[in-house]
Amino acid sequence: MGKIIGIDLGTTNSLAAVWKDGESCLIPNPFGEYLTPSAVSFGDDGIVYVGRPAKERLISHPDKSVSIFKRYMGTEKVYEINGKQYRPEELSAFVLKRLREDAQRYLGEPVEEAVISVPAYFNDMARKAVKNAGELAGLKVERIINEPSAAALACRRQGMKEDETFLVFDLGGGTLDVSLVDCFDNIIEIIAVSGDNHLGGSDFDREIAGWFCREHGLEFESLSMQRQGVILESACRAKCGLSKKGSVCMKVTDGEFQGQMELTNKKLIEISLPLFQRMAAPVKRVVNDGREAMLEISKAVLVGGSCRMPAVRQYLRHMLPDSKITAMNPDYMVAFGTGVYAGIKERKEDIKDVLLTDICPFTLGTGIFNKNDEKRTLMSAIIERNSVLPCSKTARFQTAGDYQEHVVIDVYQGEEYYAAGNIHLGEIKVGVPLAPKGQETVTVCYTYDINGILIVDVEVDSTGEKRRQVITTGEGVIAPEEIKKRVEELEKMKLSPAGQEENQGILAWGERLFAQTTGALREETRKRLEYFQHVLHVEQDRYKVEKCKSRIRNFFQSVEDYLDDAGVGRNPEDIALWFQEDDVEDEEPGEEYQLWSDGRLTH
Ligand code: ADP
Ligand code: MG
Repeated sequence: MGKIIGIDLGTTNSLAAVWKDGESCLIPNPFGEYLTPSAVSFGDDGIVYVGRPAKERLISHPDKSVSIFKRYMGTEKVYEINGKQYRPEELSAFVLKRLREDAQRYLGEPVEEAVISVPAYFNDMARKAVKNAGELAGLKVERIINEPSAAALACRRQGMKEDETFLVFDLGGGTLDVSLVDCFDNIIEIIAVSGDNHLGGSDFDREIAGWFCREHGLEFESLSMQRQGVILESACRAKCGLSKKGSVCMKVTDGEFQGQMELTNKKLIEISLPLFQRMAAPVKRVVNDGREAMLEISKAVLVGGSCRMPAVRQYLRHMLPDSKITAMNPDYMVAFGTGVYAGIKERKEDIKDVLLTDICPFTLGTGIFNKNDEKRTLMSAIIERNSVLPCSKTARFQTAGDYQEHVVIDVYQGEEYYAAGNIHLGEIKVGVPLAPKGQETVTVCYTYDINGILIVDVEVDSTGEKRRQVITTGEGVIAPEEIKKRVEELEKMKLSPAGQEENQGILAWGERLFAQTTGALREETRKRLEYFQHVLHVEQDRYKVEKCKSRIRNFFQSVEDYLDDAGVGRNPEDIALWFQEDDVEDEEPGEEYQLWSDGRLTH
């Protein structure tokens, strides 16, 4: 198999990475840089410029140059340049082609496959457009992965714990994407996403440019496009300079006009305070949407070029005082992660397999007896469409006829009311003891993963007889050994009867601790028990049960340790805090420019 590359196809900048010598490596472009601006420009001579030259031409040839087209992927938008029409995926294809060529030069071998990341909120149309763009660039798109999952993968390679829920805050050139990501065992799941489609680095450039103009008696809006471009460019350069030192001189030279101003981080915060205030809303939204995981968020990972701004990091620290903030190479994180995933896809031995979650696009169910029309079996859903994968759901069915000899579980995929309208994937037949109708029951469990492998387990409740069938529903052919490996992975999600006893044991343990503790600790114990019960009885998602079990066990153990230690005089109110903060480490060393208090600047 040839090399697979990972690609972060960004709105502002794109990057490529590859798994090499046991790590994810970024691929440099011909300028020796990792970031290739996602810009395309058309010359009169038929030449297509991509990357840095195209970005320069955005200012010199605005009518022949385009950028920010990623925003319109999957829409009908058409760009007209030099009398020709281009769709967003065609423009993206030019960028992908450039990255592919850079990778081939760097690796010295042909590259025909890629893993490409997209924002978690991208819909099916937008994802298909990305796939098409890849194909237009001569790349088979092995997999589309979500940007926050890619960032999470990169973090895990940098020594993150196996079991953690954290916030990914991605502030790029034009958008802010906030996601709540959960890692447990080797599964990475996105719990909630939110964002602001009109908040990013370029908004800061505009604020700085506006301020600069005001100070020089100019009105930004009434300047020519070209002049605006020149000032924005200087503003951007000044902004980036502030990530290295506390004060920079912003200079603008444009024909007759010459001007300069000193810009500091403090000034930057002052002039762009509304932008900072807008950052808070999506963070609050995801934390609320992912309520169940609230207790576990201990960390925020800052991603995207604009997180290089010290003021942004400082604001985040203010907003999330209890979280550990990681902001290493923010603009490379997603690309690093795609490189890791490319390694996984190449089945490299030096990297552990990881499951990234996705959503099940269709319903999986079984046919059930229709009282009103015996010939027309009804569809009964077991895994609903849009369930987060991998997932495992159980349902119980009873016999419909007197003294029937066996039960047939027909497996269907689709949304139709009558089973026959859906796709029939397979059937499992089990014998049941002869009994009047309704007396015998079978428990059916569907476990489905992102690669399209469905495991159907059927158990006759009275005799304990079990049957299993593994069905592959995904596109293409999956090798038998791959299926075997997947089944073993998914096996971990299942509960054996022993597992149920274990759950009972955990509940009893929690109840005892509840009785033994007081105050905040008791409240925390109650909340966790309540959540565990909810997952166990209402959600019934076996993967979630396993995850929750592992976490609650750790928590109870820490409570137990505390109780053993109680004589030493620690305040019971503290332990809940201590438990949540047990992994607080030093933040990345960096200059602290400002103190925030209630979203306002303090002097
Ligand atoms: P996207 O994901 O939208 O493609 P990136 O993550 O590459 O974007 O971020 C691009 C943005 O980051 C631009 O607005 C750029 O000005 C900003 N940026 C890059 N480096 C710095 C820096 N050192 N300081 C401040 N902003 C920066
Ligand atoms: Mg990005």
